[in-house]
Order: sequence, then C-alpha cells, then structure tokens
Amino acid sequence: MSAAVAHVDLEAIGSNIRALAALAPQSKFMLAVKSNAYGHGLHEVVRTGLDSGVDSFGVLEANAGIELRESGVEVPLFAWMHGQGTDFAAAAEARVDLGVQTFWQLEAIAASGARVRPRVHLKIDTGLHRGGADRPRWAEFVTEALRLQALGKLDVVAAWSHLSDTSHSADLESTEVFIAAVEEARALGADFELLHLGASAAVIDLPQAHFDLVRVGIAAYGISPFGDRSAADLGLRPAMQLRAPVLDARHGLASIAVGYGDGIQSDPEGGAYVIVDGHIAPVVEVGVDETVVALPQGAAAVAAGGECIVFGDGSNGEATAEQWAIWGETVGDEIVTGLTRRVARSFGVS
Ligand SMILES: *Cc1c(COP(=O)(O)O)cnc(C)c1O
Repeated sequence: MSAAVAHVDLEAIGSNIRALAALAPQSKFMLAVKSNAYGHGLHEVVRTGLDSGVDSFGVLEANAGIELRESGVEVPLFAWMHGQGTDFAAAAEARVDLGVQTFWQLEAIAASGARVRPRVHLKIDTGLHRGGADRPRWAEFVTEALRLQALGKLDVVAAWSHLSDTSHSADLESTEVFIAAVEEARALGADFELLHLGASAAVIDLPQAHFDLVRVGIAAYGISPFGDRSAADLGLRPAMQLRAPVLDARHGLASIAVGYGDGIQSDPEGGAYVIVDGHIAPVVEVGVDETVVALPQGAAAVAAGGECIVFGDGSNGEATAEQWAIWGETVGDEIVTGLTRRVARSFGVS
C-alpha cells in the first residue's frame, strides 16, 4: 500500500448529484461509476448515489454490473463495453441491461441461452466514431435486433449514443442525427422504452440531449467536463483530496511519499505545486514513489512526519485535480481515475 491516501467526500458527491439532477428534471439520472467510480470507490459511491436519488448506474463492463447486483443493488444497471469473453447470460440473469454496438454482440447476446431475456440498448454512431452501428447500417442493425426480439431471444428497450464533447455545435449536430435514427428505427417497428444520449457536458449545456435519461460521470465527482469552466464556476464540489506524508525535509527541500507509481503525473509543467504545512511548495521532481518539492522560507521548519496535500477542492490553498490536469496536459478524469490501487481511499466528510 502507498502511504498516500485519497480522501473522498461522499457528501460532495451527493450534493453534486442533486445539483446536476436538478438541471435535467424530466430525465432519469444514471450515475456512471466505471473505473471504480472514477477512482472514488465503487461501493461507497453507489451507496451515496442511492441515498441521493439516482435512478440507475452505468458500469462499463457486465462483470461490474453483476458484482453490484450481487451486493444487493436493486436499481437498473447498464453495461456497454463487451469483449469476446463477456458472459451475456450471467449479465441478463443479473438483470444488467446491455448496450450493443455491433452485430456480433447482438448475435452473441441472442445466442447466450440466458434464462432471462436480455434487455438491449441499441447504439447508433452519430457520426463521431465513438462506437455504435454506423448510420448507413443502422436500419439493418435495428431490423436484425427486431428479428431476434420476435424470436424471443432478447428485448430491444432503448436507443442510445454518446456525444464527443468536442464542441457544443458538434454535439448539437449529433443530437439531430440521433433523433433521425430513432425515427427511422420506429418506422421499422422499434418501440423504445428509453432514449439516452447526454453525459455530464450535455446535462449542463445541451438540454436538447437530455431525453429520457442522462448518464452522468465526471461532473458528479466535482470535475468540470469543460476546458473553459472550472467545477467552481459550475457550482460543483471536487470530492477527492489526495494527501501524502512528508518523509524528509532538509536544505529547503522536502520529499513526500507519493509518486507516479501512485498515479500522479510524472512530468507536470513548471508551476505545479503541493501544499506542505499550509505553504505552497513547488514540485521539483516526481519519482516513482517519492516527489521532491521546494520548501518556501516560511515552511523551513516543516518536520518529517507532517502532511502534504497534492490536490483537493482548493479550500486549503491546494490545486484541484483540474489544475493538475492542466499541468499534466490531460483531463481531470485522468487525474482521479489514474490513481492506482496502491492508494487507499478513505471516506467521510473532509
Ligand atoms: C463515461 C461515460 C459516460 C459519463 O461521461 P461523463 O462525461 O464522465 O459524464 C456516459 N456514457 C458513456 C457511454 C460513458 O462511457
């Protein structure tokens, strides 16, 4: 185990969920909890989600959905990333809805022999190549799904897609493509219970993409989905704070017990800093399990055994995960999700 600890403020996640759900009041709220709830801890986040009124969870792989079902979660679960080894029968029997993006997945689900009819959500590629049936083959895809449904092999319950979030206008265009594809499918006889398209960015900025259900990930964890607006600008609270012990402090330098082996950025831009004993301490070098920082004058008395804050919600002067993303030339998702299993998670109100 690493000596660094990620403190997860579940109350912040609950408050973000409520604020985001209020932006899409007509839509069901699916909380995306892929990748261990973006690094925040799957089971704790799921409990918080249930307490905060989420309607369903998006889990990426079927196995994660089966695991949640076995842990006693009763609400709808949705998994959309499948490989040749995915056990579709087990997923259907655990009542995990399946996102389907290719013909082979459709056929494999139909042939799974599940004792419960698999519920499938058909994915259309809205032109941005984030997966799904290509627009020209969509009618054929829907027709095949309806044929399998007529044979009693599966139930077609939804049509969905995922926006690229590259720009507002691109997302709006994809929304139009989605609507046209749904109309085409209905003309072929599809009767969808649910249409879903938007994720965090659309919940905030694109009401046209809310439909029956929104799938919300990163914003619920208090990280902005936009490059030009921070979580604070959006009224969201960053839920994760990463702390690490100070190992040694001498000659104006301190070494702290966290490194790229724990998932922090290995080569942040100049200007990156942590907070040591209330003072800004610029990052000098990130190693695999230790990071060297410069101690400012006032912090010269810092003793080994003290604690440093790498990132958090900013309330102690620390940088946010969004700021680390800028220093690492990535997105905030990667900062929190990238923390490795070596880093213990601790839960509560910070
Ligand atoms: C990750 C993901 C989401 C959530 O996206 P955010 O931008 O994090 O809100 C929604 N839908 C799908 C298919 C995803 O893969």
